[in-house]
Amino acid sequence: MEKMIIVGTGCAGLTAAIYAARANISPLVLEGREPGGQLSTTTLVENFPGFVDGIDGPMLIMNMKQQAERFGARFSFATLTDFEPKSGCVSVKVDDEWIDTRTLIVASGASARWLGLENEKKLVGHGLTSCATCDGAFYRNVPVCVVGGGDSAAEEATFLTRFASKVYLIHRRDELRASKIMAERALTNPKVELIWNTVPTDYLTDEQGEMRAVKLRNVKTGEQSELDVKCVFVAIGHEPNTAPFRGKLDMDDEGYLLRTNGTHTNVPGVFAAGDVADRVYKQAITAAGQGCAAALDAEKYLAHFES
Ligand code: NAP
Repeated sequence: MEKMIIVGTGCAGLTAAIYAARANISPLVLEGREPGGQLSTTTLVENFPGFVDGIDGPMLIMNMKQQAERFGARFSFATLTDFEPKSGCVSVKVDDEWIDTRTLIVASGASARWLGLENEKKLVGHGLTSCATCDGAFYRNVPVCVVGGGDSAAEEATFLTRFASKVYLIHRRDELRASKIMAERALTNPKVELIWNTVPTDYLTDEQGEMRAVKLRNVKTGEQSELDVKCVFVAIGHEPNTAPFRGKLDMDDEGYLLRTNGTHTNVPGVFAAGDVADRVYKQAITAAGQGCAAALDAEKYLAHFES
C-alpha cells in the first residue's frame, strides 16, 4: 500500500511532491502523458515570484522536480488510467497495474483544446500544433497563424516572430482577452497582424498533406477568405484531464474537479490541485499554492491512520 500517489508533474503536482517528501511520506509521482505540464511548453515565465529577470518554464519545472527528488519523492513515467474508491484507501490503475494508496493527489492539469475542425487530429504535426515553443523553430521565414485571444495566443504570437516571416493572430472577437502587457507586446510587434472577429472553418493542405492555408469566416459579416500559412498554432485554452475520474469524483459541467473543504474531493483520501480543479486563476503560482495545500491536507488525513 502506497501512502501517497500524486498524479501530474506540473507546478501543482511537483509542489505537492516537495511538501509530501519533506514530511517523509516519499510519494510516488506519476508523470503522465504530458510530463512537466503546461510550463514545460512555455518560454520565459516572468510572473513567478522570486525570479527578478524571469525563469525559463522548463527550467523552473526541472528545478522543482530535483527539489522533490532531493527529499525522497519517487517518479515514474507512468499514467493513471483508472481509479476505484475503496474503504480506507483508493485503488488506481497505473498503466496496467492496480496499486492501492491511502491518499491520492490529482494534479493532472489541463490539455490543449482544439477547434474541432475536420481532419484536425490527422494534421497535428503536419502544420497544426498547440505548442509554439515545441514547433515554432520548424517554421522559419514562412507565414504562420495563431488562433485565440488569451495570454497563450498573445505569448505564442510574439514568440513566433523570432522565426516566421509573418504571424497572423486570428481572434473571434474584436478585443483580446490577454493581459494588457502580453497583448501590447503582440499588438506592437511589426510582424504580428491581428485578424479580428474571425474563426477558421477549414484547414487546406498541399499534395504532401502539409498545411498550406486556412479557410476563414468573419463572424460579423459572414465573409469567407483563405489565408496562406504553413502552420496553424491553436491557443484557445485547455480542458481538464479528468477522464479516468468521470462518474467517480464530483466535477462541474466542463469536467473540472469540485472540492469541498480545502482541497478535499468528494472521495475521502482524494485531493485535487491546480488546473484540473481551477477554472478561474490557472496561474503557475496558484497551481503551486494549491499543490502545497493538497499535500498538507493529505498529510493531515494520513495522520488518522497512524494515530
Ligand atoms: P484563455 O484565457 O481561456 O483564452 C482562450 C482564448 O481562446 C480566448 O480568447 C477565447 O476567446 C478563445 N477561444 C476559446 N474557444 C475558442 C474557439 N472554439 N474558437 C476560437 N477561439 C476560441 O486560455 P489561455 O490563453 O490558454 O490562458 C489560460 C490561463 O493561463 C489564463 O488564466 C492566462 O492568464 C494564463 N496564462 C498566463 C501566461 C503568463 O502569464 N505568462 C501565459 C499563458 C497563459 P474569447 O476571448 O472570445 O473567449
